[in-house]
Amino acid sequence: MRLVLVGPPGAGKGTQAALLKQKLAVPHISTGDLFRAHISEQTDLGKEVQEYLDSGELVPDEVTNQMVRERLAQPDAADGFLLDGFPRNVAQAGVLGEILAAEGQRLDAVVEFKVDEDVVVERLLARGRSDDKEDVIRHRQEVYRNETAPLLDYYSDIVVAIDAVGDVEEISERALSALRGDR
Ligand code: AMP
Repeated sequence: MRLVLVGPPGAGKGTQAALLKQKLAVPHISTGDLFRAHISEQTDLGKEVQEYLDSGELVPDEVTNQMVRERLAQPDAADGFLLDGFPRNVAQAGVLGEILAAEGQRLDAVVEFKVDEDVVVERLLARGRSDDKEDVIRHRQEVYRNETAPLLDYYSDIVVAIDAVGDVEEISERALSALRGDR
């Protein structure tokens, strides 16, 4: 299955992806995790992107798209993947569509994690990652609203929306049953 997870920062996409990748037997590809790995290994890419992550800005598309292109070309992603944090804007979605179309593939679904902004800001403040400072959190929410939420229109034919508030295991079952088309 080829899936994209969409939801505001703090919606629990990473946690859900960790459960779903086991249940669906596909790799979890998180652009945020990939960038953070580069930063902690102090690679050239890591040095280039650090300030964007620190401020909650999006890394420029060319840099992000190239990293995703390389990751999706790895053999483990040939039969499916869970993309978490990519695409983050409509231009990236266009590039993803081209990467997949070149292989005769397309997305099966876009899972939208629905949760109120107040709830996610509380969660992020409690998480305490280095970019989880209140002003940066607020900025990331704004970037989500302006840049990423329009993806829900772009992908309207294949969006599966689920309520992302509640028990972690329950939310994952909700997502799976929505993907199966249960109502
Ligand atoms: P995340 O772990 O998904 O919350 O991402 C953390 C940070 O990584 C974001 O605030 C951006 O700076 C950067 N980032 C992650 N994914 C993308 C993307 N698809 N496009 C641009 N920047 C990204």
